[in-house]
Amino acid sequence: MDIRVGLGHDTHRLEEGRPLILGGITIEHSHGLAGHSDGDIVLHALTDAILGAIGAGDIGELYPDTEAIWKGADSRIFIEGALARMQGLGYEVVNTDIIIHAQRPKLGPDKERIRDHVAALLAVEPDRVNIKAKTGEKVGHIGRLEAMACQAVVLLQRDLRGRDHGF
Ligand code: MG
Repeated sequence: MDIRVGLGHDTHRLEEGRPLILGGITIEHSHGLAGHSDGDIVLHALTDAILGAIGAGDIGELYPDTEAIWKGADSRIFIEGALARMQGLGYEVVNTDIIIHAQRPKLGPDKERIRDHVAALLAVEPDRVNIKAKTGEKVGHIGRLEAMACQAVVLLQRDLRGRDHGF
């Protein structure tokens, strides 16, 4: 068995009136995340974690924010692209642990919805996805409501027995 770990991080600025999308779920809030795409920090961090685990660089290399094609993009595209690369190398997701840093809104009621949606995107059981939410303790860019951030770690595995992945 070959196992790989990957780490992802993302920060986006908060902007009044934009939709707040976390892990593909739209959350009722006065502010959303600014960005070239839909600003979904959860799917961006998770995409980077998967790309990191397979040694495939990062989201900015694959989907440059200078390219108009990704403007307003549903971040599902990014995670699906990373998953396709991962599957092409014969890996599957073991589990992922995700921390969302947000002073507001309280994400407690939304964590389960986010977890279930991320699990569906990854095609794994919900117990293989864990979502944590942390405030910024009212300090720093998170605590001052200027931004939200997300960290994701992912573990991948592949069974090398009887398979040829070109290695
Ligand atoms: Mg991003």
